[in-house]
Amino acid sequence: MVIQGEFLGGGHEVGRLGILLKCPGARLLFDYGMTATDPPQYPAPCPPVDFMFLTHSHLDHCGMIPWLTARYDIDVVATPVSREVGVLLMEDSVKIGAAEGYPEPYTSQDIKTTRRRFSDIAFGDTRDAGRLQVVTHSAGHIPGATMYELVDGRTTLITGDLHTLETRLVQGARPVKCDNLIMESTYSGRNHPPRMKTEYALLKKIDEVADRGGTVIIPSFAVGRTQELMLLLKDSKYEFWLDGMGKKVNKIYSGFPEFVKSGKRLRQAVRRTMEVRNVHARQRALKGDVILTTSGMLDGGPVVSYIDAIRDDPKSAILLTGYQVEGSNGRKLLETGTMDFRGVTEKVECEVLKYDFSAHAGHNELLAFAKGCDPEKIVLMHGDERELLAGDLRAEGYEVLLPRNGEKFEL
Ligand SMILES: [Zn+2]
Repeated sequence: MVIQGEFLGGGHEVGRLGILLKCPGARLLFDYGMTATDPPQYPAPCPPVDFMFLTHSHLDHCGMIPWLTARYDIDVVATPVSREVGVLLMEDSVKIGAAEGYPEPYTSQDIKTTRRRFSDIAFGDTRDAGRLQVVTHSAGHIPGATMYELVDGRTTLITGDLHTLETRLVQGARPVKCDNLIMESTYSGRNHPPRMKTEYALLKKIDEVADRGGTVIIPSFAVGRTQELMLLLKDSKYEFWLDGMGKKVNKIYSGFPEFVKSGKRLRQAVRRTMEVRNVHARQRALKGDVILTTSGMLDGGPVVSYIDAIRDDPKSAILLTGYQVEGSNGRKLLETGTMDFRGVTEKVECEVLKYDFSAHAGHNELLAFAKGCDPEKIVLMHGDERELLAGDLRAEGYEVLLPRNGEKFEL
């Protein structure tokens, strides 16, 4: 089998992924996302394809599917939990686009079409696509995140975003023996501190802030990160509140317990969480111990109002739990101690700290995963510093390809 591949986006960068593979008898597309920068960045227009496979429901992987299904009459293969969360994110991105005045790549009507095109899979399922069979595996990144194994004599594994360690929310991914491996490399050159240490440090900081009479605000991505933190906080003695899109994601995840590590624990965490449902509750939340809310990088969402309410209070703290991309409000806060409140830059007197709760495999974990798959060829994608990991993989004897967006490669 010869596969011809090309990245429509997300090859030499983190974000807007689109992997086009011309396989015997079928053209397949894996993911089609957008990078939610200001303004958003889109992948190259996708030519006609026969099937679309979604690895998971983060906007940089699913955000452009409505553009695709508006043009081509194709199935979108995904886990049902990815479908539900994906549609939620697509609808949100149309709302944000309209509010910010960006030209819209698709409409709400197009999202309705997308919803009808979804075709459900579970882990371990096999699908026919042309002369290939496509087998699904868990990618361990967030609930429902899927790796796809293409089988036709030779095998090719596409990881999507990948996490190999067990977290509170999901089990880690296991390697799959293959001939070709197309693997993400977000954390090429970087390792994460042990998760237990990070969890301990975060809880200790909350203790400290509560003791001195402050409020803790934890800005957190709605999809995956929020639930991971709820599972951590549920056993603490603190009153914690949740505001923003995480509430809707909780509902979806609760409906698909087969895609989380423990449906029971997630249910307990949801019951233990106080949800902000109106303006009065926002005031009550500010009197509680911890507020978990979106957006994770402080670019809009309820988090801005919460920080605005406590920004003069040095007893309070803002504990960031995700990567703060260049140009984001969160990065600005970390670097300058000031942030943007609806167009006005203000000083923030609260303590500001960052904790690494990444849902991506670190450098050494990616290396170990690739060795476990033991392929001949490895294509690294979804990374802006791929050379560091490529060097370590070549030293192990693997052939490594680093195609840039738009560059053709062969497997
Ligand atoms: Zn992701």
